[in-house]
Order: sequence, then structure tokens, then C-alpha cells
Amino acid sequence: MHKIEHIGIAVKSLDISIPLFEKLLGSTCYKQETVETEKVNTAFFRTGESKIELLEDSNQHGIINRFIEKKGEGVHHIAFAVKNIVEEVDRLKSAGFEFIQEEPKRGADNKLVCFLHPKGTNGVLIELCQEIE
Ligand code: ZN
Repeated sequence: MHKIEHIGIAVKSLDISIPLFEKLLGSTCYKQETVETEKVNTAFFRTGESKIELLEDSNQHGIINRFIEKKGEGVHHIAFAVKNIVEEVDRLKSAGFEFIQEEPKRGADNKLVCFLHPKGTNGVLIELCQEIE
């Protein structure tokens, strides 16, 4: 894992939170994208080497709203950039980590992604992501 690629933040409404984060970060949202497989709407901001990803549910009872019901709005996951996601999944599996899904799938922002199970990582949801060439 060579850097924090982005931090994912669960929000109730992108309409409210995009202007808030534009004000906070002093930069404009450069991309909005819906991830159909996850039913989430995302919005991205650049912050130096890393990014902020805002996540809003695109349906009422999806994963983001369930998260917000339990924990409130806030940090949802930390994403690490990896060069080879398959090798990294293998390395972490042999080290005893559990994955929510081991098969890399297409995420937002042109990435292959995998999520580790937060019960094995002190409650932090970890995303691995590899840029699609
Ligand atoms: Zn993410």
C-alpha cells in the first residue's frame, strides 16, 4: 500500500455536502459519479496527493443510509492505493485478514476495489484500490 488514495465520508445529501466541502477545502468538486453496483452517488475532491470521496445513497435503504442510521454522518472508509490488487488481497489473506468480498470489482473513479472486513481492522473499513489502466 503506497499512499492513502482517498477518505470516504458518508453524507445524507450531496446537494448539501458538496458546497460545504468546497468551502472547507477551497477546491471544487471535480467529479460526480453513481456506482450502480453499490447504489451510491459519489463526489470527489482533490486534497494534495489524496482525495475526499463523499458518499450518498441513491436508494433509501442502501449501505450508506444504514451506516448513517447506526453511526451518523462521518468517516466511512479509508482507501489505500495498491499497485496490484490481486497480490495485495493474497498477501492480506495469508496474514489472516478477512474481506467483505475478495474478488476485485469496479468502483468509482476508474478503480478496481476490494473491502476488508472492519471487524479485523479495529472497526475501520479499509478499501484497497488499483487504478484501471
Ligand atoms: Zn472509496
